[in-house]
Parts: sequence; structure tokens; C-alpha cells
Amino acid sequence: MAQDDCLFCKIAKGEVPAEIVRESERTVAFRDINPQAPTHVLVIPRDHYPNAAEAAAADAGLLDEIVREAHEVAAEEGVVDLGYRLVFNTGSGAGQTVFHLHGHVLGGRGMEWPPG
Ligand code: 5GP
Ligand code: ZN
Repeated sequence: MAQDDCLFCKIAKGEVPAEIVRESERTVAFRDINPQAPTHVLVIPRDHYPNAAEAAAADAGLLDEIVREAHEVAAEEGVVDLGYRLVFNTGSGAGQTVFHLHGHVLGGRGMEWPPG
């Protein structure tokens, strides 16, 4: 179900523009407006879940699809060989600012560990 005041629900419905790179029946992938790496794409479900854990608890199979789509995005962007990072920030203390589940696909440069 969509949530009226949710930015990513609006992107999924085409009500807010975004540079969409890939779509599946249940997911949409689009470029982050403030990229933190040469490839920075967000993969979201069309349905509204606040975070990955709530989606996993409520919707078996959805997270698998997001991970598969994230990998397809990475392949299309040519960042699989170098390696890419798939991040689900959960909670404001971890940096989550949009409370509609999204996986960040980050690639195209070396990544440090631990993350900041
Ligand atoms: P979070 O901080 O919640 O893990 O990630 C939210 C991401 O959404 C941020 O990286 C931010 O740059 C991105 N973002 C916020 N607003 C928009 C928008 O209107 N369009 C797009 N394409 N990305 C957005
Ligand atoms: Zn939403």
C-alpha cells in the first residue's frame, strides 16, 4: 500500500520525477539525487514498508527481489567486478532519512571499512 505523504511512494507511482534505471513488477530502481559514488542507485519496493526488517517480516520474498534487482543494476552499471556495496540504513541514527525501504547500490570506486 502506498502512503500519501511518502516521497518514494510518489517516485514509484511516477508522481515525482526520478531517473529510473530499472523496474520490475514489485520494484523500481532510480539514481540517488545526491550520489555518493560514481554509481549510486536506490532500489525500492512499490509497496510501502518503513525499513528492510519490516518488509522481511511482512512480505516473504520481497527482500530477495530487491537484492536480485540491486545485483542486476550493478551488472548493468559495470561495477560487479570491482565490487559494490548494498546498504539498508535502518533508523535515523544509522543515517536513514527516507522511511520507505530502499537499498543503496554504491559502486565505481573503492569503499572503505568501517563505514562512517
Ligand atoms: P537514507 O539516508 O534514508 O538511507 O537515503 C535516502 C536517500 O534518498 C539519500 O541518499 C538521498 O540523497 C536520496 N533522496 C532524497 N530525496 C530524493 C529525491 O527526491 N530523489 C532522489 N532520486 N533521491 C532522493
Ligand atoms: Zn512509501
